[in-house]
Amino acid sequence: MSKQHRSIAIDGPSGAGKSTLAKRLAEKMGYLYVDTGAIYRTVGLYAFRAGVDPADPAAVIPLLKDIRIRLGYGADGLQHMYLNDEDVTGEIRRHEISACASGVSAIPEVRAFLLEQQQTLAKEHDVIMDGRDIGTVVLPDADVKIFLTADAEARARRRWLELKERGQETPFETVLRDVQERDERDTNRAAAPLRQAEDAVLADTTDKDLEQSLTLLTEIVKERLQA
Ligand code: C5P
Repeated sequence: MSKQHRSIAIDGPSGAGKSTLAKRLAEKMGYLYVDTGAIYRTVGLYAFRAGVDPADPAAVIPLLKDIRIRLGYGADGLQHMYLNDEDVTGEIRRHEISACASGVSAIPEVRAFLLEQQQTLAKEHDVIMDGRDIGTVVLPDADVKIFLTADAEARARRRWLELKERGQETPFETVLRDVQERDERDTNRAAAPLRQAEDAVLADTTDKDLEQSLTLLTEIVKERLQA
């Protein structure tokens, strides 16, 4: 079967730098950047606003029929998330929404609900898609698969700085605990758990800054696309 578009899958735990690096790489290559975490965050936000336990399938599944999620791209090329036509791009980044996203993402019906939308984007565009199960479930035939990671402390520090820059002062210990809890949940859930695809290249950014990580990823992509 001939493939019309190229796809690059980047998976890994939260705070490994996936979105920042994927975005930069997409700009360099002229690909569409798809942040799938933002899609799960949008469902998490809906559950949060509805006042239900985001991890309770019996409470979340009936909500799905009322959720319409759209991705839009601004003139700046940035991905905007629309929940029933409301721009929730900023709101889904709130600290408490991270746990809601992680909660809803463990529900198989939620994953099935979002799968087609992600696959359609990859059919229609050259994409760099980041998430937890892109190389394993969403785009098993991706041209390049990267598993991006860093140790939990390094990832928590990055997340803490990011929140601080957004004016959300959160104790470092809280951020670290959240990162560890999310790792635990994302790795041990039954539905599409976080794991490295067999044919993915492992990239560890613990001791690398942004530019060094970008160089590493660019090299991996170049090599794999030529292979
Ligand atoms: O990447 P980000 O931290 O924004 O993702 C939020 C949550 O969404 C993650 O903790 C994870 O539980 C979930 N997620 C997922 N599958 C994806 C992307 C995100 O389960 N492909």
